[in-house]
Amino acid sequence: RLHSGHPWIYRTDLADIDATGGDVVAVRDPRGRPLASAFYSDQSQIALRLLAHAPVPDAEALIDERIGRAIEFRDSLALDATAFRLVHGEGDLLPGLVVDRYGDVLVVQALTQAIERRLPFIAEVLMRRCAPGGILARNDPRVRALEGLGQEVKVLAGEVPQTVSAREGPVEYEVDVWRGQKTGLFLDQRENREAAAAYAHGRLLDAFSYNGGFALRLAGRVANALAIDVSEEAGARIRANAGRNGATNVEVRVANVFDELREYDRAGERFDTIVLDPPAFAKSRHAVPRARAGYKEINLRALKLLPVGGILVTCTCSYHVSEADFGAIVYEAATDAGAMVTVLEKRMQGRDHPVLLAAPETYYLKCFILRRVG
Ligand code: SAH
Repeated sequence: RLHSGHPWIYRTDLADIDATGGDVVAVRDPRGRPLASAFYSDQSQIALRLLAHAPVPDAEALIDERIGRAIEFRDSLALDATAFRLVHGEGDLLPGLVVDRYGDVLVVQALTQAIERRLPFIAEVLMRRCAPGGILARNDPRVRALEGLGQEVKVLAGEVPQTVSAREGPVEYEVDVWRGQKTGLFLDQRENREAAAAYAHGRLLDAFSYNGGFALRLAGRVANALAIDVSEEAGARIRANAGRNGATNVEVRVANVFDELREYDRAGERFDTIVLDPPAFAKSRHAVPRARAGYKEINLRALKLLPVGGILVTCTCSYHVSEADFGAIVYEAATDAGAMVTVLEKRMQGRDHPVLLAAPETYYLKCFILRRVG
């Protein structure tokens, strides 16, 4: 596994362990020859996460340098946004560390014991390199339980207001960094919203809208937009953000997308542009068959609502559903809907969420932009 470049080693592959959870350890072959340096976890099935294929004399210096490289890379992208991901775990060779920027505030997540232990140091590095007004630790993702880590949200440095203003392209948001999903926004979709804007037209349906990401970005391109989310809180935020951006053509409905799509079909409604951005239906491998059925259902229903010439932006953020699987699911949906579609773009998470080629698990978000042609 190590030689293939994959950054994870499972506990079952280890012969002998002499380390404490959170240590940076030397990984050796059975003859004692050094193979790599890695973060060690005493709880997770993923016992080792690769840092380098060589000894690392000073782990903190390496972390500092890698955070610096991650920030330089984002700078080099010259993103038209004040909200984006600065550090993306394995994709920046910093396993278990997530850092998102929202204007003047940084939001950090520690997803491994090694990162958790070094959070005070990481906060220092971020203060020195980025000089933010405040750093918030959003250490409440459930995956932390796999590392034996609890859930907490706390300020690591400076001050963090209840909500933070941030901009993505032309759209201004009021972001709840303390309680919003993920760290506040779905930053991984920013470039896909941008791409979708090039094709959006007519009447838009933004299904699984959350804070209104797609609806607000596309509002200026379409006649009107209907944003649906099952969460009351999300609905309220979409309305507030629409108001903030003067997007008077955005209507919000708090409802279940599955029910709504069925209802629109029955009522003979049509939409020229449809976005499907559901939560991960497959959180584990066992859940894939059910997830497949869910993805197929919404894609089939959406394609039925789409006239010839219409655009479907369809996404999955389940890494257990590969790009090829997703293509097959959407193809089945199109066949069952009696629709012929062409593929305009096959996209993934934004470039500020880099995919490590050696770790397929880091390629979680797939986004296809399709056009109905028959
Ligand atoms: N498109 C959004 C991100 C969507 S996240 C963006 O660009 O920012 C997925 C959203 O789906 C969550 O807000 C969740 O509340 C919502 N959701 C989950 N199940 C749903 C359902 N059955 N019907 C409607 N919304 C649902």
